[in-house]
Amino acid sequence: MSIAVVGGGVIGLAIAHYLLKLGAENVVVYEMRYVGSGSSTRNAGHFRVHFWAPENARFAVESRKMFLRLGSELGWNPLIELNGYLFLLYDEGVLRAYRRANQTWSSLGVPGKIMDVDEVGERYPYLNLEGVIGAFFGPQDGQFHHDFITFGYYSSVLKRGGRVLEYAKVDRIVVEDGRVRGVEVRGGFREHEKVVVAAGGWSNEVLRTCGVELPLVPERKEIGVTEPVARFIEPLIINTKLDGYLTQSIRGEIMGSVDYPPAPNVMKLTNTITWITRFAKMAVETIPALRHVRLMRVWSGFYVVTPDHSHVMGRDPDWPEGLYVATGFSGHGFMLAPLTGKLMAEHILYDKIHTLMEPFLPTRFKEGRLVKETMVIG
Ligand SMILES: Cc1cc2nc3c(=O)[nH]c(=O)nc-3n(C[C@H](O)[C@H](O)[C@H](O)COP(=O)(O)OP(=O)(O)OC[C@H]3O[C@@H](n4cnc5c(N)ncnc54)[C@H](O)[C@@H]3O)c2cc1C
Repeated sequence: MSIAVVGGGVIGLAIAHYLLKLGAENVVVYEMRYVGSGSSTRNAGHFRVHFWAPENARFAVESRKMFLRLGSELGWNPLIELNGYLFLLYDEGVLRAYRRANQTWSSLGVPGKIMDVDEVGERYPYLNLEGVIGAFFGPQDGQFHHDFITFGYYSSVLKRGGRVLEYAKVDRIVVEDGRVRGVEVRGGFREHEKVVVAAGGWSNEVLRTCGVELPLVPERKEIGVTEPVARFIEPLIINTKLDGYLTQSIRGEIMGSVDYPPAPNVMKLTNTITWITRFAKMAVETIPALRHVRLMRVWSGFYVVTPDHSHVMGRDPDWPEGLYVATGFSGHGFMLAPLTGKLMAEHILYDKIHTLMEPFLPTRFKEGRLVKETMVIG
């Protein structure tokens, strides 16, 4: 069986890796630019298990287990650090919501810690605690290096006999008699029995070529790093009032983002002075000492957003036979890539719909079974 994967980001490469691992022989990844040129090398490199929707939390818990084994699975060091997420809370209602959610997280084996403001001040003396009434700390959460995982999957695909074609844009998915026949690339037809669309912010552009459309909106998100300074920030700090986050890389750069201004649809991946100003304000308000640190580099990528902020994977039986999708991961797709890749591979090869995958099928939108996720960071 010949399988085309459209998109050489972490999702497409993970799907290809697990397909080959399960014995698929003819797997081709088509990438319109170069491997990792989409959001997979433009993200903040963090993973967590704490989501409001239990379906997402369960999915993330299993994906995390795979994440922690990726070094031996791929032979590339993903530079994982379990330094946790610290959510700074400013509102009694929000604090209560974290307490309630922590019961669910405990039942999934990933309890976090609710901290009072004195404890936060003692442990993280560099934080400005004005207005803070407490915090939630998720010790199971952490950071990784996106390049090593993306290119680890890439090299595994090549080693296992898969092909990855760069600068090979899929212009059209060819469908005849209700089933996928292949793809059109650079004016030529290439035959495939199955096509998986994992094209991130461009997924709808690809799907529309065979008459399919999903409720997906790519939103441009900006992010930046400062010059490196001696390491002092341990967890990912999330300012829930200003909707921003800050972290420190192994090299010492302070990295972070703030959710502003909203910029929907596929567009040039540029940066704006409005965002830079807003980010700098959030950073200094959260950690006052950052006023002495210089911002060095900014870039942007896409959050691919669905109406419920949860991802989409699998197929709709009303679609052409042989067509699959894995996209819509908002700001948390990288961490979900290992499990997505594995479950998609089983779905494509054996028609298996794992219970963890079932809530995320594309049919949920027309059936009104949304997996509402509001814990979107940045
Ligand atoms: C600022 C920012 C911070 C983030 N932080 C985190 C984080 O800390 N943790 C986390 O887990 N996630 C994070 N994310 C989200 C994460 O980066 C994405 O969810 C993830 O990378 C999605 O991977 P993907 O493979 O679906 O998409 P992409 O990496 O965008 O890959 C899609 C690929 O498809 C290719 N393509 C498109 N159209 C075609 C075509 N017609 N033919 C061939 N190829 C095509 C594109 O060139 C692209 O390379 C962040 C995202 C951003 C923007």
